[in-house]
Amino acid sequence: MFLGPGNLEVREVPIPRPGPGEVLVKVRAAPTCGTDLKTYLRGHPNYSPPFLFGHEFGGDVVEVGAQVSAFRPGMRVTANFFGPCGRCFLCVHHQENLCEYMVRNWGCYAEYLTIPEPIVRVNTFEIPLDLSYAQAALVEPLASVVHGHQLIRIRPGERVAILGAGGPVGLLHLQMALRCGASQIIAIDRSTSRLSLAKALGATTLINPELTDTVQAIRDLTGGRGADVVIESAGTKMTWELALNCSRRGGRILWFGGLPSGTKVELDATQIHYNELALFGVHGGTPLSTYHAFELITSGAIQTQPLISGEMALEQVEEAFHRMMTGEVLKIAINPNLDPLEVRPDIQSIH
Ligand SMILES: [Zn+2]
Ligand SMILES: [Zn+2]
Repeated sequence: MFLGPGNLEVREVPIPRPGPGEVLVKVRAAPTCGTDLKTYLRGHPNYSPPFLFGHEFGGDVVEVGAQVSAFRPGMRVTANFFGPCGRCFLCVHHQENLCEYMVRNWGCYAEYLTIPEPIVRVNTFEIPLDLSYAQAALVEPLASVVHGHQLIRIRPGERVAILGAGGPVGLLHLQMALRCGASQIIAIDRSTSRLSLAKALGATTLINPELTDTVQAIRDLTGGRGADVVIESAGTKMTWELALNCSRRGGRILWFGGLPSGTKVELDATQIHYNELALFGVHGGTPLSTYHAFELITSGAIQTQPLISGEMALEQVEEAFHRMMTGEVLKIAINPNLDPLEVRPDIQSIH
């Protein structure tokens, strides 16, 4: 339970009961995510503590509410964290990720979790037996990545630069860009170990901004023009601004990494105007992008295993966040069934 910035506590709470249309799940893996880390560090603008959090999970159905026919006890399931209403102006315009009545499902760092009706209806999936709970749970970040790619539409042969390529989301963008036919993936990251993972997953060129001038290096690699597509996945004001300088004239920029609310970025209007830059903000995923994300994971087209560094117990959520901050791990799957006394101090590998 989140009590305030930097302050978590394990508490006994009643096991929720599923209402009509809802599904009760026993959580088997709840991967940590940058969004949860941000919440841990600075709270959440829309919720006041105390609250349960964590938003990615894979688990077993233990009970279903009335009118649920697609799921039954014993099924292994995962779900996206959003449930759109399906009827509002934005839903009708196929922009369900922006739904005015969106239901969100926090509380995955727990032994039990109910999935609300709108999420059961469109964003819940049965996990195939050969896929781990933690890997399946990556449907949530991948749905947003897929949605972002539907906006920037990488064309075969294009050159793509990814700022923050070595983080979990950057590595998903990298794989998606390759699948879309990018000829060159320029991976930019401050961490040497993360860059080598980017290389292993298909990056063609690695840039460490601590050692090299990023903009100059991208120009050198692209005939002086800049990248066709730039994906900002580091989530800093500096990289949001830098993304424009990495783009070619007429290029497309996807700002993916969220910044604290109220952040202002400085952009050169002349550069945007005369270079005809196309700028895309992106938030969340639609039921369609979630469906596609799940297909990409279950088929193995997008590799998820390298993004999960291991598993830890419920009592170790804070420790997992600290290890994320030092860059030691990418994602940790929180497993409420692990005994913390048995697993400390090492991260357990998932079988
Ligand atoms: Zn997430
Ligand atoms: Zn809606």
